[in-house]
Amino acid sequence: MIGRLPEAVDETIVLLDGVYPGCCHRGAGDIFRLEGESPLRTYLAPEIVEGLKFARQQRMAHSGPGGGCYTFQRQRDGLTVQGAHCLYFGVHGCLLGDLKGPLCLNFICPPMRSDLLAVCAGDESLVGPEHDFLCIYRSLAIVSYDDPATVARELADLGRRVRLLSDRCAVFLAERPARSLYAFFNEG
Ligand code: SF4
Repeated sequence: MIGRLPEAVDETIVLLDGVYPGCCHRGAGDIFRLEGESPLRTYLAPEIVEGLKFARQQRMAHSGPGGGCYTFQRQRDGLTVQGAHCLYFGVHGCLLGDLKGPLCLNFICPPMRSDLLAVCAGDESLVGPEHDFLCIYRSLAIVSYDDPATVARELADLGRRVRLLSDRCAVFLAERPARSLYAFFNEG
């Protein structure tokens, strides 16, 4: 997937140490901002943030620590780069599961988004923008600040969007000789 990003064309790196974390850099998991919503709803509600932090502490107590560092060398100019993983990043990926923050739920990298748009015949209203996959920021803002009936309606709508996207992926794959969308778009 890295090779499909515009800035990665002709870019090769050699990992010298650790695990390459993709987008999971130090601090990313603790961003609770909501982008693009009303100026009065720029963060998850404080009660939700506190609840998330508490639940994360309990989960991390069982999963063991994340974090760590990595080093790679950029082949273009030989530059050695060091980075630090998100504190919830383990060697097998994110340790938080359903306790991820808004940034991790919402961002969808451009190649994956363009694949899903191809699957959905260009339906941007379903896939959502790059910074707001499936318009989850809007849902999180409503969950944070609205009344229970509105929250219930929004969650039902979000569930419908997820099911619709899943159905479209299944139909797309059923019509093609590929075992997965990843294989279809990345392995030719
Ligand atoms: S919380 Fe999980 S998904 Fe988000 S940056 Fe950290 S490791 Fe990655």
